[in-house]
Amino acid sequence: MKAPIRTLLAALGFAALAAAAQTPAEVSLSRIDCGNGFNDSRRFSDTFAYTDPKMPFTFSCYLIRHGDDYMVWDTGYLPGSNPNASKVTLVEYLAQVQVKPDQVKYVGISHYHADHTGQLGSFPNATLLIGEREWAAITAPKPGPGVNVAGFTHWISGGGKLETVPADKDVFGDGTVFIFRTPGHTPGHQSLLVRLKEKGPVILVGDAAHFHENYENNGVPGFNHDRADTIASLERIKQMAKNIKATVIIQHDPRDIGKLPTFPAAAK
Ligand SMILES: [Zn+2]
Repeated sequence: MKAPIRTLLAALGFAALAAAAQTPAEVSLSRIDCGNGFNDSRRFSDTFAYTDPKMPFTFSCYLIRHGDDYMVWDTGYLPGSNPNASKVTLVEYLAQVQVKPDQVKYVGISHYHADHTGQLGSFPNATLLIGEREWAAITAPKPGPGVNVAGFTHWISGGGKLETVPADKDVFGDGTVFIFRTPGHTPGHQSLLVRLKEKGPVILVGDAAHFHENYENNGVPGFNHDRADTIASLERIKQMAKNIKATVIIQHDPRDIGKLPTFPAAAK
């Protein structure tokens, strides 16, 4: 009974060595401005931690280049749908770096809210990478509050390639682009780790936290799906960041915009 297990482990070890021996693909990461506005900070604490009724918020989309492949992380509001939405579309931004929507292989979505999924439909040929529990909530007979069902129409109808992510996912199989579970804000919320050669590891937190104060103090917005999951996810991000010395980017916090070069420049 034991020999086959040893054989299997040996085979896995060999596969890991073979993967490590390959020349790593060049990876870059850029931030795209997907809108700006203000939010009532009081909504973002279930312990009455904040009082500012007009806290600056930014809306961030990201482009990851992995060798010859492209991935988009979060897609912002649909322009025109909301006063906070960007007037420039994501497709127009990508054109500035000569990337056409059809060249985008993957769109990773942190969670189902409209400020992250508004322009998903601009990438009908991309494979959608979404948390398994998130997908269940999107396709439920009665989708939960805040689910932007319209953004997912193409994938709900079966027209788009879909990969629901049950756990963590090494997107390109070489450890450079890693989706990891951070539930709490929504049931299947996920964050992204991008390992860059020069800049080092970068974590895009999605909405695991919306601003520095909540990140630092394990603060929980009153409208989050699950309080305990939120805190556990914040702990996971913090431990990961400490262990690998990652730059942590809170996507909605304007104070974190400067952690990446201004588009069209990209961190490498
Ligand atoms: Zn958001």
